[in-house]
Amino acid sequence: MKETEIRELTLKAYAKINLVLDITGRRPDGYHDLASVMQEIGLYDTVTIRKTATGIKLKVEFDDGVERGFSLVPDDTKNLAYRAAELLLSDAKVDGGVEIILHKNIPVAAGLAGGSTDAATVLRGINVLYDLYYDTGRLCELGVKLGADVPFCIVGGTMLAEGIGEKLQALSIPGSVYVLLAKPPVAVSTKEVYQAYDKLLEEDPPELADIEKVKSAIEKGDAPALASCLYNALALVTEPLHPEIVALREEILKEGAKGALMSGSGPSVFGLYDDLAAAKAAADRLQERFPEVFFAAVPFCYNHKELD
Ligand code: ATP
Repeated sequence: MKETEIRELTLKAYAKINLVLDITGRRPDGYHDLASVMQEIGLYDTVTIRKTATGIKLKVEFDDGVERGFSLVPDDTKNLAYRAAELLLSDAKVDGGVEIILHKNIPVAAGLAGGSTDAATVLRGINVLYDLYYDTGRLCELGVKLGADVPFCIVGGTMLAEGIGEKLQALSIPGSVYVLLAKPPVAVSTKEVYQAYDKLLEEDPPELADIEKVKSAIEKGDAPALASCLYNALALVTEPLHPEIVALREEILKEGAKGALMSGSGPSVFGLYDDLAAAKAAADRLQERFPEVFFAAVPFCYNHKELD
């Protein structure tokens, strides 16, 4: 019997937050070495990929997005989803093309890896559609060429990421943890944040996070244990530049979060809860007071590997 060929896939591309983000060094090429605990969360873009005879076509869709910055997303060869398709189709010398429909939902330039997760999902999708059988390691080797967060986004779950983001070690969080996510309408330049951090490294280097302590807190798996180890070195330079981020973090703590932190290079801030209803109620209350901020209450995702 002939197998039915899969010609189209629709996949969820999940966002991430950084529970810990520490910079452990700077390389001569300007890249930074990281020690970061990354967590996949239940906020996602939707990516549909169709097999075509040749070439790459990309369509970017979104609903209303003023506060989520969707107008910043390129719909051409600069889009990371497009670049991921180009990279894999050429690496595997595929005889054929793809059409990609990207429905954005994750706030842009927010420290949530929106572009990286789209790229990771395109790599996973084309791997399946074209029966390439690349293993995860090989997909990650390609992915890191597109961005340091792409390998994590391919693997998902909870990971300790080291090197520039390519060395991943799985961590397991046994409990259920929920996130209240907030993206204020503040533009943060990742490049400027890293430049400011380099200056701080030269003048007054901060102490490194205790990763072993972080790992043992994670093994406990509840929001209070995780809250005790939240740390983002980049917040040391981003927060003084953008007081709105500090204000939002404090508001989230007042709304019952066990801990709150800026994600990535910002400006998104998240709070941790051990109850989804409490996170949603807090998000609703804050939304009324801060209508210009994007709020969402979502669970941690523990594994997206099965193609959903
Ligand atoms: P990270 O957390 O990985 O540093 P981020 O969440 O801060 O990423 P992105 O949402 O990936 O940032 O957007 C950064 C820039 O990347 C945008 O301003 C946009 O110009 C560009 N970009 C390219 N492709 C995409 C995409 N698919 N989605 C969003 N932005 C994209």
